[in-house]
Order: sequence, then structure tokens, then C-alpha cells
Amino acid sequence: MKFYSTNNKTVLISLKEAVLQGLAADNGLYMPESIPAMPADFFGGMHEKDFRQIALAVADKFIGEDIPNTELQRIIDHTIAFDAPLVEVERNISALELFHGPTMAFKDFGARFMSQLLRFFSSQVKREIVILVATSGDTGSAVANGFLGVEGIRVIVLYPAGKVSDIQEKQFTTLGQNITAVEVDGTFDDCQRLVKTAFLDNDLREQYFLTSANSINIARLIPQSFYYFYAYSQRKEKSAPVVFSVPSGNFGNLTAGLLAKKMGLPVARFVASTNINDVVPQYLASGHLVPRPSVHTLSNAMDVGNPSNFARMVDLYDGHLNAIQEDVIGYAFTDSDTKAAMLSVSRKQKYILDPHGAVGYLGLKKYLEGCNDDVNGIFLETAHPAKFKDVVELAIDKPIPLPGTLEKFVKGNKQSLAVSHDYHAFKKILIDTLVVSHT
Ligand SMILES: *Cc1c(COP(=O)(O)O)cnc(C)c1O
Repeated sequence: MKFYSTNNKTVLISLKEAVLQGLAADNGLYMPESIPAMPADFFGGMHEKDFRQIALAVADKFIGEDIPNTELQRIIDHTIAFDAPLVEVERNISALELFHGPTMAFKDFGARFMSQLLRFFSSQVKREIVILVATSGDTGSAVANGFLGVEGIRVIVLYPAGKVSDIQEKQFTTLGQNITAVEVDGTFDDCQRLVKTAFLDNDLREQYFLTSANSINIARLIPQSFYYFYAYSQRKEKSAPVVFSVPSGNFGNLTAGLLAKKMGLPVARFVASTNINDVVPQYLASGHLVPRPSVHTLSNAMDVGNPSNFARMVDLYDGHLNAIQEDVIGYAFTDSDTKAAMLSVSRKQKYILDPHGAVGYLGLKKYLEGCNDDVNGIFLETAHPAKFKDVVELAIDKPIPLPGTLEKFVKGNKQSLAVSHDYHAFKKILIDTLVVSHT
């Protein structure tokens, strides 16, 4: 399978190039040259397959030609090392829990799959692969944990000192091995600027193969389609329609769902659920995408004013707005809606939502308003509520325990390199770190 850039469909490149480059040189996003269809008997026999078998069948369609079978199997076994159960919350509504991985958020799927693909390709790259990632919290932890211990790859996480939560910070500063955390005296924008400057620094690029593990990488998108298929195989009402509500920010997760539908997954509708950063619901209503600066909300992983995967969504439908509108409906919710949903679902259904999942729940609820038929309504629970302990406890008015996975991080020792936001100071630290890792 070859890949093209959303800005130029005439040039096709290999999987390896697409994964190593991340973003295309023309600033477009890579897309598969065609969308493979799953055979009809795949859906019939699905309930007898486990998560790994389903994921393997889907992955094979995209990357089977480029990765030997045994290697592909290994990559899937590593990626799908935890379950994604469909948990009933109330009649017609279930949560697809995507938070059973090492950092307890759905980004674990994408980060783990990408790390294994890069590991496979690293033997074909002459220099050491260095991943630079700037984070305001969650991306850094998923990437650092996804790449932990992966041979041939170093990960440098840059984060703004004092501006990420304690638990987020612990998730990438306590790991050691091939992960180095750099604590920048500055803002998230400073971290991003340092990373961008490093990518343009020829002196560095001659010595190291620099890449990013950004969420636009095609290797992070593909694995996110696996769990839509798996959710379908777990649905209760076999004859009722399936509706997915996806709490969205950069729209990678939703795009992966649309990809699954294009591969043949029978989904009646997708609900694009956002917080008040609602440029996509606005687009679905008006036909115009009007990016604007993001506003801080309780579901902060979705505070995005110019969604990076939007180009892919449009590309999947060849730019036909009507066709997108047939498949996707958008709703936006305020922080007070989000808090009210967390409280009521905790009291009535005894289910604890995180702020992002709460937005997904609200979107589904709104879509199903007045519907008396049976529906397999599924919202994606993208993070464990304990990751947002303070916000959730305040909303539901009771304490929630910290699961062992998160407690382990909290007990770890923070190790980080402090640096000013000056590029030369950062470069010196970077080179010193990489030299040591070589010896
Ligand atoms: C990243 C993230 C989202 C948003 O996902 P997109 O693919 O960017 O739309 C939602 N919830 C959580 C918890 C996240 O970390």
C-alpha cells in the first residue's frame, strides 16, 4: 500500500517514508492510496474473534504488503496488550473503554503501534532515530510509554515547567531507559519552537535521524480504527443500528472511525462531540471551517481551535460536504453541561465518566433524544476518570481511588533536565544526552 499527501495526490510514497516523515513536505497529511474493504464474511464471524485477531485482519489490509507476517503479528501483540471493553451504562448507551493501557488514555494505542513500526524501520535507517516531542501533558506520556525500551530509538520529551499536572509529569519523567524529559523554563509554545528549530538544524540532522511522534502520523491513525471493529463485535443488539459518539479535539479518533466505516463497518452515524471549541460542529452546520484560537475547558485534551486531522476527514469524502453530513453530526457542550453529566451518570447509572467521555456521552444522549427504538449507542471513553481526579471529584462530589497503574507513576522518582527556553542551551543538553546514550 502506498500513501499520498492530502495536498498532492499524484505523488505516492511508501509506508516507511510516510511513517518516518510524519507530516508531508507540502504540509499535507498522508492517506492510504485506496481504502481496503474488509470481506463480508469478516463481519459475520467477528464475534468469534478476539481483539488481536480483529486488529491483525484490519492492519494486514493497510501494511501487510510492507511488513512480514510474523513481524506484523508481533506488532499487533505488542499494541493490543490490554482490552477495550464495551460497558453498558444505560439502555441504548455503552462506553467503549479505551483507557486500560499504560497511561490510561486511548492515545496508548496509536503510540504503541507507531513505536513498533518505527522499531521495524529503524534497522533500515543508518543513524540513530531521535524522537522529539513537545507536550502540554497527555501526548508526552503516551509517546514516552509507547516507546519505552524500544531498541534503536531515543525519545526526548519537552514540557513547560510547572504547567502540566503532577500525574502527567510523573508519567514521562519517571521512566528512565531511552526516555529523557527536558523541563523547559517557558511555555508549551516555547517547547514547540525548540522542537521546530531542532528539525531545521542541519548540524543535528547530519548526526541524528530526527522525527516527531505527532498525532498526525499515519502510524497513529491506523490502529485507532481497530477498536471500532472490536466494539462492533461486542455489541448486544445484533440487529439494531450502531452509532458512535467520539469526543473530539484534533479529530484523529473520529477520522479513524470514518476509515473503519469506509472499510465496510456498518455504522449508521457518527456524532462529533466537542466542548465549546466547536469549529467542526460549526463546519458541519455551515459548510465552512473557521479556525480560531482555542479556549481552555475541563476536557482540555480537546481544546483545539484548528483540528489537525480535518484535512483527512474531508479527503475521505473527496470534499463532498453532503456526504460528510450524512455520516457525521456535530454537537458542542459547555463545561457546566459536562459537570452535570458526570454528576448525574455517577448518581443514576453508578458509572464514572471522565470529562472527555462525558462530552461523548452528552453527544450520544442528544442524538438519541426521543428515540424509542433499540440502538447500539456507543461513546468512546478516551481516558480513565482518575487522570482528571480533581475535576471529577469536584463534579461528582465524592472521592475516586487512584488505580494501580497511575499510583505506580506517582510513587516514581522524577528525573528531568532543566533548561532555559534558549535554543543553544537546549541543543547543548540534547547533544550531551545523545552522546551519553551512545556509549
Ligand atoms: C487526545 C484526546 C482526545 C481527542 O482526540 P482527537 O483524536 O484529538 O480528536 C479526547 N480525549 C482524550 C482523553 C484525549 O487525550
